[in-house]
Amino acid sequence: MLPVRRRGLVGVCLGLTLILAFLLLLIRPGAAPRLWDADRLEAAAKGLTQYDVTLRLDAENAALSISEIITFSNATGDALNSLVLRTWLNAYQTEDTSPAALEEVYDECYPEGFSPGGVQIYDVIWNGERAEWSLEGEGKTALRVSIPMLQDGETGTLLLRCVATIPRCRHRTGQSGKNFALGNAVPLLSRYENGEWREDAYSPIGDPFVSDCANFRVTAYLPEGFAPAASCEMYRTGDSWQGEMKAARDFALCAGPDWKTAKGESGGVRLYSFAKTPEGARNALGDAQKALETFASLYGPYPYPTLTVCSAAFPFGGMEYPGLIMIGEENYAQGKENTLELTIAHETAHQWFYALVGSDQAKQPWQDEAICEYAMLRYVRARYGRGSFDTLKYYRVDAPMQERTGTKLTPGSPIDYFGSLNDYATVVYGRGAALLLALDEMLPQGVDAFLRSYAEEFAFQFVSREQLEGFLNAWSGMDLRPLLLDYLDTLME
Ligand SMILES: [Zn+2]
Repeated sequence: MLPVRRRGLVGVCLGLTLILAFLLLLIRPGAAPRLWDADRLEAAAKGLTQYDVTLRLDAENAALSISEIITFSNATGDALNSLVLRTWLNAYQTEDTSPAALEEVYDECYPEGFSPGGVQIYDVIWNGERAEWSLEGEGKTALRVSIPMLQDGETGTLLLRCVATIPRCRHRTGQSGKNFALGNAVPLLSRYENGEWREDAYSPIGDPFVSDCANFRVTAYLPEGFAPAASCEMYRTGDSWQGEMKAARDFALCAGPDWKTAKGESGGVRLYSFAKTPEGARNALGDAQKALETFASLYGPYPYPTLTVCSAAFPFGGMEYPGLIMIGEENYAQGKENTLELTIAHETAHQWFYALVGSDQAKQPWQDEAICEYAMLRYVRARYGRGSFDTLKYYRVDAPMQERTGTKLTPGSPIDYFGSLNDYATVVYGRGAALLLALDEMLPQGVDAFLRSYAEEFAFQFVSREQLEGFLNAWSGMDLRPLLLDYLDTLME
């Protein structure tokens, strides 16, 4: 679908790259670090919520036992008498609430017909005492736990034991064939904002998950012969897999018995790739490495020690989690190498804009999606030159700018305004990316320099649109709010 004209340009690019590499060797003792300094990551991790998670996957019964010990220090500024965790899997219980039941993709997500998923809660214990709890929100995706008043600055421990039923569904969470995608399966604390916990619905469009960075220690028991592709490196110890991840907004994994794998290393970052064929694993690994290197040079070091790409059975391009990218398996087909590369570039960009710098994916989805779409275009320009960039820009930005969706939607709309994935892609990704291209024209230093400063300034934080706008104005010395208003909030028809 994406006519990136690579042939002929690759040779030129390779030649230029070799010359550039030689020049860099002459003027610099070593390559620029692509990985965050371990001490800096350690400093960012200090004081964050700690999740000690034990997972047991029973493949035969499609059941995932989850046991979590959550050490939470109240830094909300308010005294709290409840905590809210997100039990996203409950939304898969009925066709009315399942994020995979959108008509546009229903048959692809449920090829064998509807299959329910959900979470059965067993124990909720706060500081050693059983706690009252209730499931709230659309699809019962918010687990509210009543606790004795926890003052700002106080710490407590929540123990949660539950069993998730994994639906037979080609989605972020689901079983397809023998493989399991387990995105959003581990209940996480919601975000506390303006005196209340967020309870966004699990919209079938976009990624409604908002969460703060936390530290994870994970033990996973998987069926014999299964391997984990996870947010962090998982080590085999005895009959379990162990991993640890610091300052991450989420922990996701895929698990399956018959993946082919490839691994590599780039600037101190270890790369892993899991796919159905050795060639698919190798191609995805190469693309992830190129994207990592390009974005590290544009936007600053990659935050985590590992980056894993895994093929997933869903009818989308890809899905990002910290340290883990799930890529729709159709993208690995022969002849789709360009699509695979572009999808991996977009999802890798999310490691900077979503994972490192968090934003409101439910209310301001453009803030990570449009930036990542722009970053993907920028990747093409860096790798394959202006001609390829212009061609891709025509399809991904110029055409969406001209398309009539017939809806009253703007790139600044929240995800629950959208009724179709197609309109969402056109408006938020395509027209949203046009804002970044316009900014690039207006900023004397270019938008990449701004994004690099933005990533540095707000690393591991959660940034509102107002904060981004304020920072942009201060950084540029211009009032760019009217430009943002024009691109993000003005109807085109
Ligand atoms: Zn995206």
